[in-house]
Amino acid sequence: MNEFELIQRYFSHIGQSRPDVNVGVGDDAAVCTVPKNQELVVTTDLLVAGIHFPDDTPAHAIGYKALAVNLSDLAAMGAEPAWFTMTLSLPEPNESWLQEFARGLSELAEASGVLLIGGDTTRGALTIGIQACGFVPTGSAILRSGARVGDHIFVTGTLGDATLGLKGETGKLSLSVEAQKYFSQRLRYPTPRTREGLALRGIASAMIDISDGLVADLGHVLESSAVGASIEQGNLPVSDYYKELVDQIGWDTALSGGDDYELCIVVPPDHVASLNKLAAEWDCRITEIGIVDQKSGLRIVDEEGSLIEVAHPGYEHFSEQ
Ligand code: ADP
Ligand code: MG
Repeated sequence: MNEFELIQRYFSHIGQSRPDVNVGVGDDAAVCTVPKNQELVVTTDLLVAGIHFPDDTPAHAIGYKALAVNLSDLAAMGAEPAWFTMTLSLPEPNESWLQEFARGLSELAEASGVLLIGGDTTRGALTIGIQACGFVPTGSAILRSGARVGDHIFVTGTLGDATLGLKGETGKLSLSVEAQKYFSQRLRYPTPRTREGLALRGIASAMIDISDGLVADLGHVLESSAVGASIEQGNLPVSDYYKELVDQIGWDTALSGGDDYELCIVVPPDHVASLNKLAAEWDCRITEIGIVDQKSGLRIVDEEGSLIEVAHPGYEHFSEQ
């Protein structure tokens, strides 16, 4: 199988056909139409084997997650996803691997209404780069910089599960079979909060997706908005499986574990009722965790109101440690 056969066989029909794609896979570049009065929102994320996922991760999960992390970035902007491109570096053209990879990618692409419109394929260490594009009505993207003093801070879903999955898979934590199964599922198949992100246009003042951990990512929002915040540790939403472990492992993983791809949503006080009304219809829970205030930085307080130090604020590729 040569490069062109591989592309034709596995990547020429991934996702939902769309009337706004005039030229897709097969030419030198794709040609698409951006709807009138909308802005194009563009994001990209790179997944490297052994760094972003363990080498033994199933191909189906790799395909799914490579797209999911990009859709999560679009969701965090309040964008409606539309198209994506993919650069793929593969050690060898293993057919059963490619089939499963394409199936995982395709399942999420179809469910999200996005279409693969192009890419590039080379031989090399397993690396997947996806660039995703979406739309927002002009001026309505939800930025990191919009948080104001007095705004309420919420998160979707539960925190820390993906990191516990990875710790279990790499033997750093011993887990029951059921707990490992649950955590690994959250690690391998994060749910991009696309529908939720879209619905938050006009409601959220700022938003970010939690890829590097709550403390790090909420920290980005606070810095961009030139505000501070305090959050209550006891309010952090964790899964039942995490709850069972909390006496043993504490709250650090919920505070600073990465890879959950939940949304951290900042909402002005007069929009909180609208948020709660919206969220009643969502599949995921939302939890209020704190308040934006004037004093710069993020303060985490325990049930007694004492300040908590976070040991490892978040994942950072070029950190010295
Ligand atoms: P070029 O020589 O212009 O770079 P290629 O031969 O690399 O073109 O690619 C041929 C066509 O296949 C192009 O339309 C390109 O966008 C598409 N393509 C290549 N690799 C991928 C991939 N991994 N996923 C989707 N489309 C791909
Ligand atoms: Mg090429």
